[in-house]
Amino acid sequence: MACQQFDAVADYLEIPEVVRGRVKWPKRLITVSVPFEKDNGEVVVYAGHRVQHHLTLGPTKGGLRYHPAVDQGEVAALAMWMSWKCALAGLPYGGAKGGIACDPLTMSSGELERLTRRYTAEMIPFIGPHTDVMAPDMGTNEQTMAWMMDTYSTQAGHAIPGIVTGKPVTIGGSLGRKEATGRGVAFLTGRAIDLLKLPHDSRVIIQGFGNVGSYAAYSLAKQGYRIIGVSDHTRAVFREGGLNINDLHAHFQSHATLEGFCGGDEIDPQELLIQPCEALIPAAVDRVINDKNAHKLQCKVLAEAANGPTTFEADAILRERGDIFVIPDILCNSGGVIVSYFEWVQNLQTFFWSEVEIFDKLYRVLGQAFDQVLREAKARQTDHRTAALALGISKVVEAKRLRGLFP
Ligand code: NAD
Repeated sequence: MACQQFDAVADYLEIPEVVRGRVKWPKRLITVSVPFEKDNGEVVVYAGHRVQHHLTLGPTKGGLRYHPAVDQGEVAALAMWMSWKCALAGLPYGGAKGGIACDPLTMSSGELERLTRRYTAEMIPFIGPHTDVMAPDMGTNEQTMAWMMDTYSTQAGHAIPGIVTGKPVTIGGSLGRKEATGRGVAFLTGRAIDLLKLPHDSRVIIQGFGNVGSYAAYSLAKQGYRIIGVSDHTRAVFREGGLNINDLHAHFQSHATLEGFCGGDEIDPQELLIQPCEALIPAAVDRVINDKNAHKLQCKVLAEAANGPTTFEADAILRERGDIFVIPDILCNSGGVIVSYFEWVQNLQTFFWSEVEIFDKLYRVLGQAFDQVLREAKARQTDHRTAALALGISKVVEAKRLRGLFP
């Protein structure tokens, strides 16, 4: 999907063939074997991946994912999207992504800690605060980042908080980082709803209620929108009048999943995506909007909080339909990497900002990127995804042209 998108945009931008290869293929693909001991004493070896897509604009930056479906191809695609996302937001980074094909839901905290520490130790030659900086993604969180920072710092003999972002505030994390992706998604969804002059109590459906989905939900509910449906990997619930966000919050605090939540009606998770609503927010896994359901969507705004939720084929259907305002993933979920950038800057200068400063800066950068994408789409008579990718890709192409090819 990432390559298909790149090729289509490269054609659209008329990027010469000789330049395409340099811009498209990852600079470094690193796979390490990660042996670790399970609680029952068994030693297992997982493959740990890291892909650093380009090194032209600064260190590489991107999340670390723990999910059974992780493989090197998926990590490479996610790294590539990170490159365009960082360039679109004007951040001095190349894209990266890491991942381990494991199921964190079936692992104990001790197992996750041992796996994370060993993965970090194996990656030490390839990462650093000026080389490659990791962050949480699906299946990883603040605690994972704390273990990574500790493992890296211990070998250096002093604390190096800038090795990861998305770590707890107590050890150098930034205020607002945990909420940044979800609140950014909510901010841009609100911008789109306003632009389309949709009702102030617009109906919102969210797939995935992890870090991104939950903070997007809380933030949108606070702005007066009705969260009428949510799902996670266990089930989906729906209530036309709006789910009670405080009940949902309390349930997740004690149960961590939607299982057992009785504040809404059970609905088939696939059916949830095609219910009438003003905004649909996929905030879980990739390829959930595909050629089977794209023509059935009944939303006015598709806010892509997840990475790669819409397939190439579905994208063509949405373009053809022309009645859905798409906020493409590389724009929609960029709040996370923008505040990660703020965290990294605060770590390097050892001077920290208030939460008000963080969100003020975040909304300014996000608002500018949103306006830029809309302007580009209008000027070139194209869709939002093509416009966003074209802006990101052409910045990287230009940077590579200016730096030149080392002979
Ligand atoms: P998370 O692990 O905190 O939560 C994932 C959620 O998705 C969970 O609620 C899980 O139950 C649900 N889920 C998994 N499979 C599902 C399925 N088949 N159907 C419905 N729900 C399912 O992950 P996250 O950090 O919230 O990331 C979600 C998405 O957002 C990912 O695509 C990630 O790459 C992207 N993203 C995350 C960040 C960030 O800062 N965390 C930043 C940018 C993009």
